[in-house]
Amino acid sequence: MLLDRTCSYPIFFNKRWCFMKKLLCFLLVIILGSGIYGCGSNTKKEYSSHEFLMDTIITITVHGSDEKTLKDDVKKAMNEFKRINIITNRFPEKGTPEYAKSEICKINENAGLKPVAVSDDVFNMVESSLFYGDMSGGAFNIAIGPIMDLWGFGSNNMHVPEAADISARLKVDKIDNIVLNKVDKTVFLKDKGMILDLGGVAKGYAAQKVADVLRAEGIKEGLIDAGGNIVVIGEKNNTDPWRIGITDPRKTDNYIGVLQLVDEAAVTSGDYQRNFTENGITYHHIINPNTGFPAGGTWSVTVISKDSGLADILSTTLFILGPEKGLDFIKKIEGVEAVFVGADKKIYMSEGIKDKFEITGNKYVLGK
Ligand code: AMP
Ligand code: MG
Repeated sequence: MLLDRTCSYPIFFNKRWCFMKKLLCFLLVIILGSGIYGCGSNTKKEYSSHEFLMDTIITITVHGSDEKTLKDDVKKAMNEFKRINIITNRFPEKGTPEYAKSEICKINENAGLKPVAVSDDVFNMVESSLFYGDMSGGAFNIAIGPIMDLWGFGSNNMHVPEAADISARLKVDKIDNIVLNKVDKTVFLKDKGMILDLGGVAKGYAAQKVADVLRAEGIKEGLIDAGGNIVVIGEKNNTDPWRIGITDPRKTDNYIGVLQLVDEAAVTSGDYQRNFTENGITYHHIINPNTGFPAGGTWSVTVISKDSGLADILSTTLFILGPEKGLDFIKKIEGVEAVFVGADKKIYMSEGIKDKFEITGNKYVLGK
C-alpha cells in the first residue's frame, strides 16, 4: 500500500512531487539527526521512526507540538509492536531467548500434549480468529501452519509440496482442533503435529495496539504503516482525511486508487506480497484451507475498519472467499468496508466505501 502524503495535486504529478518531498524530508531528518522536523508551521512537529519487524518495515509517524514528547511516544509505541512480535513469532530457533518468549512456540511445542496459558493479547487474537474462522466456514484458519511449512513459506525454500502430504494435513489442520479455555486463558492444539500460525492477524493486531498506545499518550494525529497494514489517527493536519493509495497488485510501484481515511485502519492482503514461481506458475502465500493450495479469484483485497486487528483477519478471509462471497460476508459485520481487485481484472467495492475511494487510471474497470 502506498502513501500519498501530498494530496492536493493530480495523482501522476503527485508521485514525482511525493518522491522529491520524501527525499527532502529524509535529508532533513539526517541533517537534524533527531528525526524531528517542522511540518508546515513553527509549532507543528512531525516525528517518524522505522523498524524491520514481522518481515516488513514498520513506520510510525506522529504530529504534535513537543519534540521530546513525540519521540518518547513513538518509542513506547514501537516497543508495543516489538512486544506483540515477540509473543507471536513462530520462527525463532529453539533454545534461543526469542524462542523462550514466543507464546506461539509454546503452544505449538505442546500440541497434542497439554493446554498452554497465554497472555490476553494472544488469547484475544486466537479467540477472534476462531470466531471469524467459524463464521467464514473455515476460510480463515490459524491452524494452517503445517500446510504453510509444506509450501516452505517463511523459509528460503518455497516449493510446490506433494499432493499426498497436503491431503494428510488437511484432515487435522482444522479450527475445531483448537481448544480455548476462557477461564484459564489457555490454548490447546489437539493433534501432535498441529502448528498455529498468526501470520494473518498479528501485524494488524500489533498496529492496533500501537495506535492505542499513541492515543492513550494524547496523540491526535499520526500514521502507522506496517507494510500492507495502515492505521491513521485523526485527520491529516487536523483538517483533511489521510489519503492512502491502494497498491496495484500487478505493478506494485503504482496504485489503483486513493482511499480517504480518518481514525481508521486499511489492511491489504495481496498475492504479490509473498510468492514464488515454479514451472511457470506463480504460487502465493494465502492458502485456501479446503484445498491446501493458494486461493484463486482475488489479486488483492483491502479491508477498512476502525479496528486494524479485525481488518487483518478479514483481509485474509475475504481474499480466500473472493469478491462475490467476500462482499456478501462483510454485510454481516458492522463498520467494515472492502475494495477488491479480482482475478478478472475488475475492481469490486462495498457500498459504504464508494464515496471514500477514488479509482485512478483506467487499467481496471469497475465490476458489478
Ligand atoms: P495476510 O497477508 O494478512 O493475508 O496474511 C497472510 C498470512 O496468513 C500467511 O503468510 C500465513 O501466515 C497466514 N495464512 C495463510 N492462509 C491462511 C488462512 N487460510 N487462514 C489464516 N491464515 C492464513
Ligand atoms: Mg490478514
